[in-house]
Amino acid sequence: MTEERARSYVREVPLYIGGEFVEAGAGGRFVTLNPSSNTPITTVAEGTTADIDRAVQAARRAFDEGSWPRMTGAERARYLRRVADLMEEDQEALSLLETLDCGIPIAQTRGQVARAAENFRFFADMAQHMTGETYPVEGRYLNYSMLQPVGVAGLITPWNTPLMLECWKIAPCLAAGNTAVLKPAEWSPLTADRLAAIIDRAGLPAGVFNVVHGYGETAGAALVAHPGVRLLSFTGETETGRTIMRNGAQTLKRFSMELGGKSPVIVFADADLDQALDAALFGMFTLNGERCTAGSRVLVEASVAAEFEERLKARIAAIRTGDPFSPDTELGPLIHPEHHARVMGYLDIAREEGATIAVGGRRPPACPDGNYLEATLLAGVKPGMRVEQEEIFGPVLSLLSFADEEAAVRIANDVRYGLAAYIWTRDVSRAHNVAARMEAGMVWVNSPNVRDLRTPFGGSKDSGIGREGGHYSFEFYCERKSVQVALQAPPIPVVGRMGD
Ligand code: NAD
Repeated sequence: MTEERARSYVREVPLYIGGEFVEAGAGGRFVTLNPSSNTPITTVAEGTTADIDRAVQAARRAFDEGSWPRMTGAERARYLRRVADLMEEDQEALSLLETLDCGIPIAQTRGQVARAAENFRFFADMAQHMTGETYPVEGRYLNYSMLQPVGVAGLITPWNTPLMLECWKIAPCLAAGNTAVLKPAEWSPLTADRLAAIIDRAGLPAGVFNVVHGYGETAGAALVAHPGVRLLSFTGETETGRTIMRNGAQTLKRFSMELGGKSPVIVFADADLDQALDAALFGMFTLNGERCTAGSRVLVEASVAAEFEERLKARIAAIRTGDPFSPDTELGPLIHPEHHARVMGYLDIAREEGATIAVGGRRPPACPDGNYLEATLLAGVKPGMRVEQEEIFGPVLSLLSFADEEAAVRIANDVRYGLAAYIWTRDVSRAHNVAARMEAGMVWVNSPNVRDLRTPFGGSKDSGIGREGGHYSFEFYCERKSVQVALQAPPIPVVGRMGD
């Protein structure tokens, strides 16, 4: 598995509108960079407002006049399973392209492609099993509710695990009978293009799925403002989410917001420390530390803090950083030089705030080019420091200690984010009590970040609005209509017959 092999799958990236691969109307192109070297990989069609409009019109036609929303769930499911099969057949190209474009180690992108394909299969199954509800009113009324597709959905995605997050939205959106316009992140366009080709080969009707590449402030903003778009599912930074909600308010869209995080890992002294250590490292340093649910603040009970810190240091220093195409690599380069500079800036902030860079903090000597940063541990971090409060979104772990359960809960919750929390203890009552007190959308107890696709996914506070996953995705991507039917002539209050 080499970079050369990955490059053999690269093409000049077009837009995908109305079932055709096309150039952007204005003819613009931008470059996508290889994070290992910051050299250009290829160019990408730069969609603008006119292209978004074309794509929304195509999606609108497919919804208003086409077969897709009128098919049965089982019929749509057949198409979606075909997409899953084709993705699995194309696994090598998809994972190589993802590694080339994002710098995520190849061993990890392989797993992500499998999970991305699984989303299509999972939501295909759900499309067949989703059902309405009935509310019989003892012989007088039969009331029921049903799920119906809403219309055109705008899907806006980030660069950190692009293919998986795109499929996570596309699969339920289409399974529910909507049509979609995807605006992928500009720093990671390659797999969205490959996916468009797969969806095209799977034979979905033209216009059901469209991809418009381009910048957030232009193509993304045009999608948000478009009156023909009814739903908007966004994953990205909290500030971008705020802007999008403001801009979409004029056309009153329904929003699903999956935003940033600064998730705590609370390690009590009675925990299985071996497991806690493994999970803390996995949760922070896989996906190059660019994971929304990363446990980026490890809080350790004081009596075991020194021991845990020593063990963390040894393991973090041993993380293999380098060429993401090497099967042994655990940590690759960050996505883009701008992001690299931002993450490095946090190391300066850490020093200024009085934290210590206990491990890492430098460009690895063997990687002079690209956006590399060693796996980094910040020790001596205190609650309230910026490195404890703000999302760094790189391989930088902040280590804190706490005196007792109350302090642990206070420190864990005292951030504006509320995406995930991880709790390590052998005390069952404490595990449940602390889980209940976490201000987070998702809590894992004695477990790394693994999630069954049926479970609700989403954040609280500044980490998001709404839930996706399992039937929660259908609640977002569907209109729930209720129908009330009288079974016998009902009593009707009389109006306007005073003179009779
Ligand atoms: P970002 O907010 O910069 O960009 C995300 C997407 O929004 C991109 O496609 C971008 O082009 C687009 N965009 C930017 N400005 C826009 C605008 N004004 N109108 C419409 N679209 C616009 O985020 P990012 O840097 O790509 O991703 C990293 C962030 O995503 C992190 O904060 C991370 O925590 C978050 N994230 C959250 C989850 C989750 O499920 N909660 C998952 C993954 C990533």
